Amino acid sequence: MITCKCGQAAVVQWKRRPFPDEASRLVERAPDTSAFIPVYACADHALTPAAAALTHQASCTGPGKTAACDCTPEQEPVPDFPGDPAKPKKRLPPGW
Ligand SMILES: [Zn+2]
Ligand SMILES: [Zn+2]
Repeated sequence: MITCKCGQAAVVQWKRRPFPDEASRLVERAPDTSAFIPVYACADHALTPAAAALTHQASCTGPGKTAACDCTPEQEPVPDFPGDPAKPKKRLPPGW
């Protein structure tokens, strides 16, 4: 069973950057994977979905009951949409 740091069953997962010693172990095992460490947490220690989508710092200890952690997460790259998805170029005729 995957557990939270508090010992309860984990229900959410996010990722954090590895510490240097962890990074060297990751490189030995899988040199091509981008280096991050999965973090698992129970509902009491879960991040918000928005925060869990980001990559956290190696020093991030995860959230407490307030659902906020103590690091500044890295922003995910913004997806590159070709044009404005809210304004499609072609509109379906009325009735479709
Ligand atoms: Zn917990
Ligand atoms: Zn964090």
